[in-house]
Amino acid sequence: MNQTLAIIKPDATGNGDAGRIIAHIEAAGFVIRALRMVTLTEAQARAFYDVHRERPFYQSLVAFMTSGPCIPMVLEAESAIRRYRDAIGATDPAEAAPGTVRQLYAESKERNAVHGSDSAENARREIAFFFSESERIG
Ligand code: GDP
Repeated sequence: MNQTLAIIKPDATGNGDAGRIIAHIEAAGFVIRALRMVTLTEAQARAFYDVHRERPFYQSLVAFMTSGPCIPMVLEAESAIRRYRDAIGATDPAEAAPGTVRQLYAESKERNAVHGSDSAENARREIAFFFSESERIG
């Protein structure tokens, strides 16, 4: 078993899709180990997406991610990182496979409903970013 960090982004919480996305994730076989709702500060959003600081969309991404509440979650499953990336689909919903979270709920490449860690190292960093050790012990 391993863990990944998922986030329901502000577009999806604002659209009232959070419950449906959580149900989709559970139905896909992931166990939710930790969950909370948080509105990121600009400094927090900048730090979370620091790897993208040189990209042209960075400022816009930070503005979007601070525009409303996010729901970060620790998800557990076998091969959780890869399987969750498969379940959410491509970054751009126009390219996301049918039945994936982004195909069903995302609006655009930026407002794409959910985040998922892309490597074991990033999953560890991102889980620690949102949850203390005591919140993650199941
Ligand atoms: P992910 O791993 O699929 O989330 O994609 P990335 O790590 O490449 O990008 C992080 C986030 O930045 C994405 O989930 C989008 O919200 C946003 N993003 C990525 N590419 C673009 C882009 O070309 N334009 C804009 N406006 N936002 C983007």
